[in-house]
Amino acid sequence: MLSFAASHAKEKSAADKIFDTVIAANKAIAQYGRDKVVNAAPGTYLNDNGQIGFLPTVEKIYRNLPASEIVSYASIAGVPEYLEAVTESVFRQFKPEAYTKTIATVGGTGALHNIVNNYSEVGDTVLTTDWCWGPYRSVCEDLQRNFATFPMFAANGLFNLADLSTKINEILAGQDRVVLILNTPAHNPTGYSLTEDEWDAVLAMLKDCTAGGLKKVILVIDIAYIDYAGEASRQFLQKLSALPDHVLAVLAFSMSKGYTLYGQRAGAMIGVSRFQEVMREFDNINQYSCRATWSNVNRAAMRALATIFKDAALVEQVDRERQQYVQKISERAGIFTAEAQAVGLRMYPYKAGFFLTIPCANPEQACRSLTNDLIFAVALSKGVRLSVCAIPTVQIHGLAGKVAAAIEK
Ligand code: PLP
Repeated sequence: MLSFAASHAKEKSAADKIFDTVIAANKAIAQYGRDKVVNAAPGTYLNDNGQIGFLPTVEKIYRNLPASEIVSYASIAGVPEYLEAVTESVFRQFKPEAYTKTIATVGGTGALHNIVNNYSEVGDTVLTTDWCWGPYRSVCEDLQRNFATFPMFAANGLFNLADLSTKINEILAGQDRVVLILNTPAHNPTGYSLTEDEWDAVLAMLKDCTAGGLKKVILVIDIAYIDYAGEASRQFLQKLSALPDHVLAVLAFSMSKGYTLYGQRAGAMIGVSRFQEVMREFDNINQYSCRATWSNVNRAAMRALATIFKDAALVEQVDRERQQYVQKISERAGIFTAEAQAVGLRMYPYKAGFFLTIPCANPEQACRSLTNDLIFAVALSKGVRLSVCAIPTVQIHGLAGKVAAAIEK
């Protein structure tokens, strides 16, 4: 084959199982009708009529922006009022006593790109959980990093601190620093959230493995779903006040889910450190990467968040509107979980968020079998992901039984 690709780019492909499954589901909907097809694949909130949710207050503010706020460039770091709004939106009353710095990025994905690019060397290994969002791997491999995982759940079904500790020490034996990505609360794809105790244990372990100052950890907390996990899920953020000296925390913020502006591509990276100089460096190196990669971020999306956070009543209104989505998702997950228990279908401990996951030996086969029933779910390497964010409540009834049957086939 004639190829012009550089050696590191050769044979890469943007094939995406999730988008492909959604396309297949939409084709089936066109052929058989919406009520006959279960589209269990999207990563967006759909109401019970199958329409994508657009938080009404966000929509109103967005549509009423003046032309200049839509078409103008923004500064590289992001609209200043947006940066303040992001910080407020994320921390609420749980702001840690530490230095923080916020930089606008192209979605949470942009934050992940900058972190991997700027806090690991080419050839280094980046670590995350075995159950994880697929693009983590793509971001790492695109930047010529190795991608490693540890088993997320221990035999008791809780977070697997022991294997995280073993793996991180193993990696640090061969490199000076490691980027560790944890997606919590409301993890994609299982819906798990680390408990307060688990957070304490993770931070204590990171303190141990960086003691002596020769090794460093960049702890990336992917909070893409935090607004769907309840107010108490933010409590862990205060623990970042006591970060070990050689641990830099970076929160990957996204406007996609929390503010239903998925395609508008706005997010941010928030650095948290006990040292001002670390934040100064964070600001410099990451703004540089923004400039060199996408320049600046969608100004309209940034202005929309800034407008909301200028007015406490608007913040409350958006929170109230989103709460309806949260309740709907929770109702769907509740029905599925109860039915799963009734039919003896094992699933990972779902607490909140857009997805739940059924572990199984042959996910591709299970998903193919579900497709025969016009159910379109995403086959992960060790399980089946179901988007409770998107499946109409009427279609949730009976779904656990069908999944159980498909797994047994
Ligand atoms: N992290 C996780 C776990 C996600 O599922 C997503 C989106 O689906 C993101 C981050 C980032 O999304 P975006 O780049 O749209 O902000």
